[in-house]
Amino acid sequence: MRLRIADIDIPPESMTSVEIPVPGLYAHAPMSMPVRVVTGKERGPILLILACVHGDEINGMEIIRRLLSNPSVRKIRGAIVAVPVVNVYGLQAHSRYMPDRRDLNRSFPGSERGSLTSRMAHIVVRELLSIATHCIDIHTGALHRYNLPQIRATLAEKRNLELARAFGAPVILDSESFEGSVRHAAGKMFNIPCLLYEAGEALRYDELSIRTGVRGLLRVMRHLDMIGKATREKKADFDPLIFKQSSWVRAPISGVMLDSRQPGDIVDRDEILGWIGDPFAEKQAAVINPAAGMVICTTNIPLVNEGEALFHMARFDGAAGPGMHDTLQTYRDIIRISDEFLGPVAGGPE
Ligand SMILES: [Zn+2]
Repeated sequence: MRLRIADIDIPPESMTSVEIPVPGLYAHAPMSMPVRVVTGKERGPILLILACVHGDEINGMEIIRRLLSNPSVRKIRGAIVAVPVVNVYGLQAHSRYMPDRRDLNRSFPGSERGSLTSRMAHIVVRELLSIATHCIDIHTGALHRYNLPQIRATLAEKRNLELARAFGAPVILDSESFEGSVRHAAGKMFNIPCLLYEAGEALRYDELSIRTGVRGLLRVMRHLDMIGKATREKKADFDPLIFKQSSWVRAPISGVMLDSRQPGDIVDRDEILGWIGDPFAEKQAAVINPAAGMVICTTNIPLVNEGEALFHMARFDGAAGPGMHDTLQTYRDIIRISDEFLGPVAGGPE
């Protein structure tokens, strides 16, 4: 199938690099957003994969690198439009934000004559979102915060639920998109299914998150008949856990956090999530879990301020069933042993 992005014609059955021009730097150095487009012979879904919309959330960059080198994507139906780094400025500065200190994922759909960030959002909408039939936006936790690999989507929209199940992350969180996000623009402006994949931590590569992401994208492409069925992975292997709500548990006092629960831990109501102590070992306070749930995000830095969000808990009704532990264990086993999701090894002949 043919595509046209940034005035470049992309022929069928090709892998094409497109540099979308974006506002330049102070020194008049030109800037662009590098995009890789893979097209098949036949028309089909156009899957837009965005990473680093927040410039320091880099797992998605590696997920896309591995996906593009996977033999399955050499022959596809439809097209993949892969953007390893949307916020090229933020990546350079190791920052979530744009140079004008705005948050790109709060600025969609943007406008042609708005702020730098608004213009950037507009470029993404005009060149990429407007041609896509499906979108997956890859993020990570913030600095020092680790997200258990999870899909967030508006599940009332059936196409989102199907896509989320197909992706096969261990956890799916039903969540409305917030205004200004890629997901909001995808749903409201273009009425296309869009998933947010949240996994790992800012400025770190996390192998579990990366493999889950590569596997998820391949599974979505299979679900959309863009690539053939897997030879090795015969069935879903586990059903993702679907949660309807979540909430943060905050620090009751300031201090250093010790002995905290880990992502994926299932914690009942009134159980202790961690302890906050002082440097003299004189005072300590327990962080109590107010309602049963699974830890889906933790802070990794032990220094905490009173009121700081420490644990993101996916909530469920009643006590945890043993099935939840089994699901997570099965998931971890699959991801660990499978080499299908490993990328090309760096290096090679001198
Ligand atoms: Zn993000």
